[in-house]
Amino acid sequence: MITPPKLRNDCFALPPGVDWIPMQEAMDRLRGGIAPVAACETVPLARATGRILARDSVARRANPPAPNSAVDGFGFAGPVPDGPVTFPLVEGRAAAGVPFSGRVPAGAAIRILTGAILPAGVDTVVLQEDIASDGTSIAFNGPLKAGANARRAGEDMIEGAVALAAGRRLQPQDIALLASVGLSEVAVFRPLRVGVLSNGDEVVPPGTIAPERMGRGAIYDANRPMLLAQLAAWGFEAVDLGVAPDSLNGLRTCLDGARTRVDAILSSGGVSTGDEDHVSALLQAEGQLDTWRIAIKPGRPLALGLWHGVPIFGLPGNPVAAFVCTLLFARPALEVLAGGDWQVPQGFVVPAAFEKRKKPGRVELLRARMTPEGQVEVFASEGSGRVSGLSWSTGLVMLDDSERHVRPGDPVRFLPYADFA
Ligand code: AMP
Ligand code: MG
Repeated sequence: MITPPKLRNDCFALPPGVDWIPMQEAMDRLRGGIAPVAACETVPLARATGRILARDSVARRANPPAPNSAVDGFGFAGPVPDGPVTFPLVEGRAAAGVPFSGRVPAGAAIRILTGAILPAGVDTVVLQEDIASDGTSIAFNGPLKAGANARRAGEDMIEGAVALAAGRRLQPQDIALLASVGLSEVAVFRPLRVGVLSNGDEVVPPGTIAPERMGRGAIYDANRPMLLAQLAAWGFEAVDLGVAPDSLNGLRTCLDGARTRVDAILSSGGVSTGDEDHVSALLQAEGQLDTWRIAIKPGRPLALGLWHGVPIFGLPGNPVAAFVCTLLFARPALEVLAGGDWQVPQGFVVPAAFEKRKKPGRVELLRARMTPEGQVEVFASEGSGRVSGLSWSTGLVMLDDSERHVRPGDPVRFLPYADFA
């Protein structure tokens, strides 16, 4: 098993003087800065679903391996002209897994079942529902093209073809494809281990302090359980790194404990430039940090850093902004770190069920869901701390950075959360 090299120290650096970057440019830069960091292993197909292919999978056998019948019926040499025809039947039959070894003479037909290899002399099959028979011959009405109701050898895939390319995250259907072309194991990347860290003296892990005993300024940690759940759903190995206090030493201890256990870190809170924003302070002083001010709403600066070579996504503390930044930036980047392809959800354009005036300059993302009538509605409040709106929504409406007055019925782009998978 070989492990790829760590990321370059300057992989998140912006050119000097760049301060405020459009969303697409941020995406392009992020994409250009990262490369797979996960190691490879070989696993049997039964354990390959959800894993990312580390090498192209090449078909060891054609599918189908031989020409065969697509239906239950009678096989012969086609074509058949327009009008009624009669074929005498030969003795025997061809069934799936039990081929007919003889040759069917021109002008004769043979009983054939779905999946049976076409016997010599047969290239066309008529459906059993379309014929009449007296037991020794069949009659039906043409025309029928040569090759009708038959499958060609290799029509699905030929031997030696790339069945699936490296970088693909395997779906159950992919397992069917790999199995059908003779593969029983595949080289895949090991699941990316992604640590999740929350920051802030006010942040309390759920379950540790009862609501009635919480200090007035304390809040329950919403980001960490959310991100752990989301990462696991995406197929990463989610590693709980707990809550770091608002202190350099406390945070350093957390990050040092994490760095051999994870391949990347999602950290929320503490990345602005306030007095208590220790993530920025520590990474700037002792690691590597680049702060990207991206023209999107919600989402304060996104801090991209490295701690001893481990990439850190410094997300905003507000749960809505943390979630949106995770979907937009961390999701595609983590997939690439894991060995997969950079993926951009396209979503679909649907009529708005809402009205909104939007200023130019920033891309806006609104928590949204589809109505039963096929329109998209948005959550009543755009407040970035409204966790209930995240829970209510099933996706985001994305409005580009131009000025816009959306009226009910106007087309808008809806990105379902499932499209970020
Ligand atoms: P910060 O980015 O640290 O300035 O935090 C911004 C806001 O998000 C503050 O109101 C924090 O209390 C809140 N916040 C930070 N971390 C979390 C968390 N893990 N769960 C819920 N809210 C948080
Ligand atoms: Mg804070």
